Parts: sequence; C-alpha cells; structure tokens
Amino acid sequence: MHKAKLVKRSLQTVGCLLFIFFLIRSLSPQEIDDVTPGIPCEEALLNKVDVLWIVPFFNDESIATNKTWCAEILSLNKTLGLHGIHHTYNEFDTLRNESYLQPGIKAFQDCFNQTPALFKAPRLALSSENAAWLKKSYGISGPLGQSLHKVYHCNDTGRVPNKLMRWI
Ligand SMILES: [Zn+2]
Repeated sequence: MHKAKLVKRSLQTVGCLLFIFFLIRSLSPQEIDDVTPGIPCEEALLNKVDVLWIVPFFNDESIATNKTWCAEILSLNKTLGLHGIHHTYNEFDTLRNESYLQPGIKAFQDCFNQTPALFKAPRLALSSENAAWLKKSYGISGPLGQSLHKVYHCNDTGRVPNKLMRWI
C-alpha cells in the first residue's frame, strides 16, 4: 500500500475508535464521586447524574448521624455505591478485610436503609488482594468504568474539572 494511503487509513481508524469511545461515554450512566455530608457538592450535579459514590466516614464522621442529609440523598432516587470507608490515601491499596468494611456498611444501611452492592476505591487505588475478596460481594468499579462513564467530583477535586467533564 502507498505510504500516504496507509497513514490516511490509520488516522481514519483512530478517529473511528475515538468516536466510538466518546459515544459510549455520552450514553453511559453518569456518576459523581465523594458524596458525603462533609464535602460540599453542587446540587445540580447530584440531580444530573445516575450513580452517587458515597463516603460513609469522611473525617471519621458517620453519614448516619446526619439524617436530614440521608433523606435528601435518598429522595434523589439514584443508585448508591460505597466509595471506600474513610476515603483516606491508599485506603484500599493496603490489605483490608471484611471487618474493616463493617462500620461503613452499617452507617450506609442506617442512613439509606439499603446495603451497598457497588464498590469503588478512593483514587481507584485497589490492591489485587483486596479486589479478590471485595468482588465476591460487590460490583467493583475500576479504571475502565471510570473511563467509560462521565465521572464528576463533589467539590470539583477530580483530575478533569466538572465544567470540562460535561463536554467530554
Ligand atoms: Zn474519591
């Protein structure tokens, strides 16, 4: 094949793949990370997305102590997932076990009257040992999920600013 033709064909393929990638992203359910009473969160974003990733013990404060907040979040009628327990640095890159999770699940249940079925590690930092036992009970959201969905962040702390996330 002529070189110019080959380059053109390659560019077309890349363009096509990018198009499919962004099409999937635009059609996938949208998410927001770091939902917890101690982190300010834009109401419009909470309303807009489909999945809220909840931190049950931000700064050691249980979500279950803030019943007004629990009721507000529940009234949005969204899918709720567990986003770590304390949301500390490398929280799930360190070996954890079921009993580490327990207080977080209890707080989640007391707050929302449901048991979490989804788990996403803070900063997506999840060791393979933790992933192995977590995936027996939870649907795990990892780097692939984070790329194929638009993911906003409360307090706009994501690598991609919320304003830009709307467009890409
Ligand atoms: Zn987070």
